[in-house]
Amino acid sequence: MKMLKNIGIRLTISHLSHYRTTYIFVVILLTSFLIRLTYLLDYQGSPFFHSPIVDAQFHDNWAQDIVEGDIFSLKQGEVLYKAPLYPYFMAFVYWIFGHNFFILRTIQILIGSLSCSILFLIGLHYTKRRYAFIGAGAVVTEDIPDYALVYGNPARIKGWMCECGIKLEFNGDFAECKVCGKEYKMMGENKVKPER
Ligand SMILES: [Zn+2]
Repeated sequence: MKMLKNIGIRLTISHLSHYRTTYIFVVILLTSFLIRLTYLLDYQGSPFFHSPIVDAQFHDNWAQDIVEGDIFSLKQGEVLYKAPLYPYFMAFVYWIFGHNFFILRTIQILIGSLSCSILFLIGLHYTKRRYAFIGAGAVVTEDIPDYALVYGNPARIKGWMCECGIKLEFNGDFAECKVCGKEYKMMGENKVKPER
């Protein structure tokens, strides 16, 4: 009976965290896209927006050559001076939408924003959701235990933090988060574990 109950709770948690992951993914994507879009709209006023120079000009010319039929980049000489993937990507966009810098840059900022959200997923997957709180400017010289709050130079343990980012107040060996209600137990001098 106890086993069944545990399984039930686990399913609920994983169900919730799936929604939460999707929610954070979308929020990061939209936020980073809006920041880039604001910059892009502002940058439209610059003469460099419409007349690329140096590397941008080089890539633009190369991409236009590809669209005009130089499929194998023969005009670039026998050995390519720069990596070819980017000009081919630009050529593909020009081929579909025409020679339009605004559309090209919008697609680029969308890819840039996606990379932020994907980085979040990578972090989620590889960091196993462990938590610690490190003060700004702290000089960390040794391993930090889970849930520890550290700061200073060198960084020292000054307290313990809940997963939700609230400082824990221990009463003996136990602490309950004032905000989310999650419970923790002090297992030794430098070890705090969440109660199941
Ligand atoms: Zn909490």
